Amino acid sequence: MSEVLVLVDHADGKVRKSTLELLTFARRIGTPVAVFVGDAAAGEAAAAALGEHGAEKVLVASDPVYGEYLVSAHAELLAALVQERQPAAVLVTAGSEDREIAARAAIKTGSGILTDAVDVAADGSVSQQVFAASYNVTSKVAQGVPFIAVKPNSTAPEPAAAAGAVEAVSFAPTDAAKTARIVKVEEKAASGRPNLTEAAIVVSGGRGTGGDFAAVEALADSLGAAVGASRAAVDAGWYPHSHQVGQTGKAVSPQLYVAAGISGAIQHRAGMQTSKNIVAINKDDEAPIFELADFGVVGDLFQVLPQATDAVNAR
Ligand code: FAD
Repeated sequence: MSEVLVLVDHADGKVRKSTLELLTFARRIGTPVAVFVGDAAAGEAAAAALGEHGAEKVLVASDPVYGEYLVSAHAELLAALVQERQPAAVLVTAGSEDREIAARAAIKTGSGILTDAVDVAADGSVSQQVFAASYNVTSKVAQGVPFIAVKPNSTAPEPAAAAGAVEAVSFAPTDAAKTARIVKVEEKAASGRPNLTEAAIVVSGGRGTGGDFAAVEALADSLGAAVGASRAAVDAGWYPHSHQVGQTGKAVSPQLYVAAGISGAIQHRAGMQTSKNIVAINKDDEAPIFELADFGVVGDLFQVLPQATDAVNAR
């Protein structure tokens, strides 16, 4: 069976759930081979989880250049691996960085790329969300090696025992890849909350919060949830962009999504409408979010959220 390269998304020494989802899709097409870019010891440590989810090999590229420069060095590496191994497909997470790496590598190898995939079939065709998830289209790359960027939470990761054999990659990026150097990395204060795209519960706030996210955060903490935000809240500077849910933010698909003071614009829906249960709190009973909600509360979020938090804490 042909290899399928899977670019590993990892942080703080942990492989992200989205990568395990990619491995599940990759097994439909061929033999998954994970590509881990980072510290050699971290690659070794990640190999166990990757092997348990079907990665036959884990290619570890640990040249320090990858940590010093933005995406171009990663793109060179991925293109070189594609040229050398001629895989059946390359799967990456549809986040902004990995999507850019894949797009650059696809250009270098004369290949086509499909983004925002939500399903991947054995023949490499994908179901893709377009126009802010208004339509699903089925597409297939017609040239070169198919590069596919898959939205997180598109499937449940399925364990499958495989070797997870670590292989060091000796490829060294050229000077041409050293275009944008990272000069400073600011450490984020740890919130203790789960990662937004992986959380089972997300509580999001919008313009209706007026910039005061305390009630949103309190409910999130009582539920062990991640905090999300609408673009209006992010654009106003009330919450960091990394928490934005929607077409130009993150795609989430938790068991429970709580939208507080969010109207339900199509671009917001694009990032949360596949949530299993949606609860909306809005003081306007005609807000479009209620068309989508499984459970709606017409009311002031500053009254409703604290009551919900008290009720959860009392359990
Ligand atoms: P509003 O639409 O202003 O809604 C605020 C809601 O809060 C209203 O329904 C109001 O009734 C309610 N409210 C007010 N006070 C209270 C209160 N005290 N209690 C309860 N309810 C209250 N948006 C995203 O979210 N994510 C994206 O990724 C995104 N990408 C975009 C990409 C493009 C190309 C474009 C053009 C737009 C994008 N948008 C995105 C913006 C989107 O169109 C909306 O403008 C945005 O989602 C609105 O945010 P909101 O619901 O918080 O604000």
